[in-house]
Amino acid sequence: MSSALENNYLNVLGQIKKIKNENEITGEITLVAVSKKKPAGDIKTIYDLGQRDFGENTVQEFVRKYDELPKDIRWHFIGHLQTNKVKQIIGKTFLIHSVDSLHLAEEINKEAGKQTIIADILIQVNISDDEKKFGIDKDNTVDLIKKISALPHIRICGLMTIGKNTENIAEIRRYFSDLRKLSIDIKALNIDNVSMDFLSMGMSSDYEPALLEGSNMIRIGTGIFGDRAYL
Ligand SMILES: *Cc1c(COP(=O)(O)O)cnc(C)c1O
Repeated sequence: MSSALENNYLNVLGQIKKIKNENEITGEITLVAVSKKKPAGDIKTIYDLGQRDFGENTVQEFVRKYDELPKDIRWHFIGHLQTNKVKQIIGKTFLIHSVDSLHLAEEINKEAGKQTIIADILIQVNISDDEKKFGIDKDNTVDLIKKISALPHIRICGLMTIGKNTENIAEIRRYFSDLRKLSIDIKALNIDNVSMDFLSMGMSSDYEPALLEGSNMIRIGTGIFGDRAYL
């Protein structure tokens, strides 16, 4: 018998497939299962169904789960990252989604350099200009990317955003579309060390509009693991 968690997970996979089919979306979509505030046992449950990409938003939880869980998990760091905590996660992440300043990038570069590795990152863009959100402003994104691209131990792999918190799906879509256009413009600049392979947008409530606007990396928490208790 399968659990609610297993059912949720399989449902989400089915939904993604359906959206892809109905809209003739052909590219690969990476589903990041956002396991923040959920126990390692829940992660293991869907790991056993084949899921390998998991996202966490705090360094403390990230490190604890990294140590506890299988080493072939691809860990995504999706939360706001403080520079003084960078060293704890470097070498353990598949992708850091939340880089929005040169200062933070320099710290990541420094720690990656110590390990002689290259850290893959996304630039978080505050595309809807929401004063409550982290992320670089749209108008300053190219300039930031040019500066970060000069750092030898970092590779920029794309952009990330958090959808606008509104019921208005058309408005949500418009901002996702803006981010996709921005990534196309950046790709056209052909900056060394910069690819636009990943467009990380869409969460439980807005992954459908995100996929329709060209997202290829969606971050789903509640839709898989259920509501989070905020302690
Ligand atoms: C928590 C979180 C998610 C997942 O949110 P849900 O609404 O639970 O799917 C996605 N992205 C970021 C950056 C998050 O912090």
